[in-house]
Amino acid sequence: MEVTLLGTGSPLPSADRAGPATLLRSGGATLLFDCGRGVVLRLTAAGVLPIGLSAVLLTHLHSDHICDLGDIMTSHWVMSPGPTPLVVIGPPGTQSVVDGMMAMFAPDQGYRLAHHQDLNEGPIVVVTEVEPGDVVELAGVSIEVHRTDHRPVAPTVGYRVTHEGKVAAIAGDTVPCREVDELCRGADLYVQTVIRADLVAAIPSARLQDILDYHSTVEQAALTAERAGVRTLVMTHYVPPIGPGDEEAWRALAAAHFSGTIVVGDDLTTMVA
Ligand SMILES: [Zn+2]
Ligand SMILES: [Zn+2]
Repeated sequence: MEVTLLGTGSPLPSADRAGPATLLRSGGATLLFDCGRGVVLRLTAAGVLPIGLSAVLLTHLHSDHICDLGDIMTSHWVMSPGPTPLVVIGPPGTQSVVDGMMAMFAPDQGYRLAHHQDLNEGPIVVVTEVEPGDVVELAGVSIEVHRTDHRPVAPTVGYRVTHEGKVAAIAGDTVPCREVDELCRGADLYVQTVIRADLVAAIPSARLQDILDYHSTVEQAALTAERAGVRTLVMTHYVPPIGPGDEEAWRALAAAHFSGTIVVGDDLTTMVA
């Protein structure tokens, strides 16, 4: 099982960090979790084209996690040799987001259908809305859906992927809670979006202060990983973006609370379980 951080950024623009997106490859499954800014670029750099995806799974419908889903949908459509469904899994509300994106691209779809003689159908996007407790069997892997807590944003979910005894937990944005402990219990890889509360608190912006109450801090992610007996904590979605040479400071904050392996990385960092 291989997990690649495609985008380690957040809503805050960064020249070096794409928006939140994580790739998981295991057996015949190629799964994309979230579709942040620049996802198709990073996916391609990881050696995967949108047509190579088994499914796209969304943790929640915040813009930084879905803004480039439209690029995945369009690229998947125009590169498919024939009618090929794109599978999208997400919390309730996902269908209406996909419908909205389809409407947004209606002129584009019209141009391409009129221009290409061998293109006779628009994009086929098959959405499955999931609830906590659901288990999805897909491309040979098992995916459990768990509730997360990113309130007031709701619904939000995390995904626990199991294949041949290996487990990866993809948490998305959440504060620590019992459900996230269950999501990542004993996982080989636990991918958690994080913020640095100390750095955010020092930024004089009321709007930025609002994010403190619905994300895991680095320390909280480490405490969750320790409680749940995780092997490797993988942090991503760094707020604020990690400055050059600051990785060790982020790692040290987590290491004070977690005895396992800690990954703080740039885009395209890859872990093998
Ligand atoms: Zn969010
Ligand atoms: Zn986010």
